[in-house]
Amino acid sequence: MNIVLTLDYELYFGSETGSVSTSIVGATEKLLSVLDKFDIQAVFFVDVGFVKRLADFKSDNPELQKDYELITDQLKKLSESGHDLQLHIHPHWEDSVYENGKWNIDAGRYRLADWSENKIREIVASYKKFLERFSVTNNVFVFRAGGWCIQPFEKIKSALKENGVWLDSTVYQGGYQEDEARYFDFRGAPTQAKWNFEDDPLDPDKSGSFVEIPISSYKVSPFFYWKLAFTKLLDNPKHKTFGDGGPLPASKKWILQKLLLPSNTVVSIDGYKASFLERAFDLYQTDKPDADFVIIGHPKALTEYSLQKFEEFVAKYEGQHQFHTFDGLLEEGSIEKPE
Ligand SMILES: [Zn+2]
Repeated sequence: MNIVLTLDYELYFGSETGSVSTSIVGATEKLLSVLDKFDIQAVFFVDVGFVKRLADFKSDNPELQKDYELITDQLKKLSESGHDLQLHIHPHWEDSVYENGKWNIDAGRYRLADWSENKIREIVASYKKFLERFSVTNNVFVFRAGGWCIQPFEKIKSALKENGVWLDSTVYQGGYQEDEARYFDFRGAPTQAKWNFEDDPLDPDKSGSFVEIPISSYKVSPFFYWKLAFTKLLDNPKHKTFGDGGPLPASKKWILQKLLLPSNTVVSIDGYKASFLERAFDLYQTDKPDADFVIIGHPKALTEYSLQKFEEFVAKYEGQHQFHTFDGLLEEGSIEKPE
C-alpha cells in the first residue's frame, strides 16, 4: 500500500498563536529526526498566507525577520531533501495583523469561499508563486483547504484551475464540522479510493479536471474523546504538544457530539490520535487495499507519545509498504493529471 504522510505546516489560530521557533520549526525538527532515521519523504502543506504575512511585517519588526529566516531556511532544506511542498491556504491571514509584539488573528473570513472571486484568484496565484520560491522541484499542484473548509468548491474552482492546481487532499469520509468560523460537511463523501471531480469534490465525475485523494479516515467511539479529555487533564508530559499555542475553539455542540456519538475522524499522527494509526492501517489493508493511505499531521500538535507511536508504525510496516510524496506518485505514474 502507498502511504502518504502529509503535514499541515502552520502556527495556531487561536488568541495564542504560539512561536515560529517552537510550534513550527522546532516541532518539525523533532519529526524529521524520525523521518530521517527511516529515510521517509513527506508532503508539507505550507500555510503560505502566514509566511507572506511575515514578509509583510518583518521590516518593522526585527523579531519577525528572524521567524521569516527560520521558516524559509527550513522550507528550502525540506525541499532539497526530497520532501514535497504543497499549497495550504488559510486566507484569514489576509485580515490578521502583527501589533504590540503579537499576532492579532481575525478569523471572520476563515474559509477561502468567504472571499470574492477576484480576491480568491489573487490569493491562489500569489501564494503558489511565493511557495515556489522555496521549492527545488517548482511543482506546486496539490491543494489542502485550511481547516478542511473547501466548500462551496465552485467558488474557488477556477482560481485553482487557472493556477495549475489539480489535485486535492482535503476531504475525509464522514467529516463534518460547523461553528462560527468553520464549515465543512463530508458526510456524503464517496467511499472509493480516489476520484476525479469538477464542481464538487464529493461528486465524482470521470471527465472532471480535478483529482481527489482523500485523507484516510477512521471511525471512533465517544470513548476515544473521553480518553482524550482525560489525557489532557492528567498533564502527562508525554502528551504535551510540541507547539506552544492554542487552536480556535470548537463549538460546545461539536464537543458534545463527539463525547456522545460515534464519529469519523482523520487518520493522524497528532497527539492521542496516533493511538489508532496501526488499527486504521490494518482496516484499510483489508477494506481498501487499492487506496493510498493518507495520514495527516501538524508539527505543532505532535507529542512525545504520538511520535513514538508513529515510529512504531514505521518500524512495523516499512519493509512491505512505501512512503510516497504526491510529487513522487506523479513521477512514477500512479497519479495522472486529467486532460
Ligand atoms: Zn491548516
